[in-house]
Amino acid sequence: MSPRGVAVFGCTGSIGDTTFKVLEGLALQPEAPDLEVVALSAGGRVAELITHSRRWRPSRVCVGNAADVALVKAALPGVDVVCGADGLESLAADPQVDVVVNGLVGAVGLRPTLAALHAGTDVAMANKEPLVMVGNLVLEAAERGGGRILPVDSEPSAMWQCLNGERAHEVTRLILTASGGAFRDRSREQLSAVTPEEALNHPTWNMGPKITVDSATLMNKGFEVIEASWLFNVHVDAVEVVIHRESIVHSMVEFVDGSIIAHLGRTDMSLPIQYALTEPERYPGPPHLDLTELGALHFEAPDLSNFPALELCYRVGRLGGTMPVALNAANEVGVAAFLSGRIGFLQIHNVNELVVEGHNVAAANCLGTVLEVDRQARECADRAVCHIEEERRGE
Ligand code: MG
Repeated sequence: MSPRGVAVFGCTGSIGDTTFKVLEGLALQPEAPDLEVVALSAGGRVAELITHSRRWRPSRVCVGNAADVALVKAALPGVDVVCGADGLESLAADPQVDVVVNGLVGAVGLRPTLAALHAGTDVAMANKEPLVMVGNLVLEAAERGGGRILPVDSEPSAMWQCLNGERAHEVTRLILTASGGAFRDRSREQLSAVTPEEALNHPTWNMGPKITVDSATLMNKGFEVIEASWLFNVHVDAVEVVIHRESIVHSMVEFVDGSIIAHLGRTDMSLPIQYALTEPERYPGPPHLDLTELGALHFEAPDLSNFPALELCYRVGRLGGTMPVALNAANEVGVAAFLSGRIGFLQIHNVNELVVEGHNVAAANCLGTVLEVDRQARECADRAVCHIEEERRGE
């Protein structure tokens, strides 16, 4: 049997790093499936892309900027080098690619996800934003094209594994665990003063900057509520969030008889990535969990007053249509403005609220509408950021 062609999108980020480790681990196991890297993409870190390409020898690579194409071509003779959103789409739909590991950040991941699914290619989804924005379009593309959506985000992956062999109509609740982020014990006053450096220091998971800030605001958890509702076909109100500091139970599923099935594992993304690449089979992976060493696991209710992003996501998830597109766009702009020191930590939520309040929800039934809403919401969020920045300067 010929090897399964793998494309790694966003290969210079933390998902890329972990995917390469998983591929190295699987390559040492003769009984594991034969996986071959055939395409890689990176945004701006072209030196790292070149290093990965020399190691993994893909036949095609995509860079974020047209200006980098010549340099990458010169460094990788014989490799097809493409760029931008069109380049990612062409890689996603390439017949050599059997599975895309989507480690892109934010809305950029939407078009390549749809292109892959339409082409009948599986997508291992670490990039949750496409599902949050327009889960309906993503599911439709999968259904039409035949590509499968393989959850890589650790909580949906946990739910997917808990649901294995179960009957969907017997599910009553999905229980999503949250570490609580970097600031789970801070007061509102303390939160107003946090710096980007502090926000980037996650207590249990090692991830990229955008998702680490989203974890600190609990926006990441709110997005996972919407993501899980699409993936497992339940209403957002049937997804409950529980704070679980140890991040050992990655999520749980409750059934009509009151049984709860939980998925436990180390806080290591190689578990969900490996499972997405080999399922339904399992192979040895990183060191196993020692429960006696852990001693106890704790669960508590989330603090909705200090972390309003969670409630906002439920509200936006209930409204549906283009509302999640607007929220996601606002949040990307707000997080970038916080990371560059333009607005404070709590003001990310102000930007999100303003954009959501100002958005007239419509049906998200085609990509054109979605991209236009995304553009407008970003403009609106930019204006909100400028306004907040002026106010801060005046203080
Ligand atoms: Mg997650």
